[in-house]
Amino acid sequence: MDKHIVVVGAGVAGLTTAMLLSQNPRYKITVAAKHMPGDYDIEYASPWAGANYFPVSVKGTPAAEWEGNTWPSLENLARNYPEAGVHFQGCEVYNRSKDVGSVTANWFSELLSPTPWWKSLLPDFKTIPKTELSDGMDSGKSFTSVCINTAIYLPWLVSQGLKNGVVFKRAILKQITDAAAPGMHHSGKPADLIINCTGLGSLKLGGVEDRKLYPARGQIVVVRNDAGKMYGVSGTDDGDDEAMYIMTRAAGGGTVLGGSYQKDNWESQFDPSLAIRIMKRCVDICPQLTNGRGIEHLDIIRHSVGLRPVREGGARIEKEKVNGTWVVHSYGYGGAGYQSSYGAAQAAIKLVDEALQERARL
Ligand code: FAD
Repeated sequence: MDKHIVVVGAGVAGLTTAMLLSQNPRYKITVAAKHMPGDYDIEYASPWAGANYFPVSVKGTPAAEWEGNTWPSLENLARNYPEAGVHFQGCEVYNRSKDVGSVTANWFSELLSPTPWWKSLLPDFKTIPKTELSDGMDSGKSFTSVCINTAIYLPWLVSQGLKNGVVFKRAILKQITDAAAPGMHHSGKPADLIINCTGLGSLKLGGVEDRKLYPARGQIVVVRNDAGKMYGVSGTDDGDDEAMYIMTRAAGGGTVLGGSYQKDNWESQFDPSLAIRIMKRCVDICPQLTNGRGIEHLDIIRHSVGLRPVREGGARIEKEKVNGTWVVHSYGYGGAGYQSSYGAAQAAIKLVDEALQERARL
């Protein structure tokens, strides 16, 4: 029998879940969201992301499993589906001993480990010889990963859902169970199950109100210059919660210069001083960005700010009954929503299957 499912949220979590779920023809899916691909809003994290695959989850945790299970899908997209806007890039990640314990180094700790769990997962993993390190760097590694052009990839996810009959609509929910009200699902019938992919929205959404959620503000500069590679460093000399990373998006998406990881900071406007510090740090580590000519020769497309939806203790993938309706939660991915998207969606879909089977038995 057909099952009616409403996915709330059209960020990378909701769209990936809807796309994978729609491969089962018994599932009739509506995606309902306040923001959709094409929108740029501080309440919508996904468009602002770099986005690359730089695993940061701790070995042995569910988050490491989600990230590990995501790599094969992203690699397949980069190799075989150019229309998705995902491409391979060489990467260099550097560690400075003096950053130990800083906000950025803690966030990046698994990325910085000399023996990370993903060492044999990503191609071309190598330790950079000490003689090749630039001044101030204590160790480094290189590998190949992917970078996603979110302006292409999010609409591509929508198109994959549309192909399988998913219906997309705008809605602002006050309560998570509003998604089960008659008329919210495109069939007109009440939903059999709701999937909650509302990111930071779950902090205030009635029936969820998860106080473990908080923002980690990320400011970036998008430029036309090409870095040729992706870079990351364990920290900066400019502040505990400032970061240094560079990635060039696929298919003309520009180069993202980052960044910051400012906990509990909700400011949506860019800080011009921070922007200058970001550009200086990036040109220092990658002078070829401007052919050695300094930040004045960066060709700026825009300054951007996004809020990573971080959850104390990690993302929430759980099922629960709220006022008699099954809800599968999938939110709180912090700075790793893309790099855990397929693994997380697979974990959420397992709970959907279980909940609907349980419902059928009753
Ligand atoms: P969101 O994208 O925020 O989507 C939430 C959805 O829920 C939206 O559609 C919203 O409208 C909807 N919604 C919320 N409340 C309601 C409501 N009450 N009613 C209806 N709809 C509602 N991740 C990576 O993996 N790699 C990276 O390189 C990377 N770089 C980043 C750089 C920056 C600067 C930032 C800010 C983030 C970065 N991230 C990166 C993190 C990534 O962007 C997030 O983890 C991811 O976008 C979260 O997706 P989401 O679908 O959970 O939430």
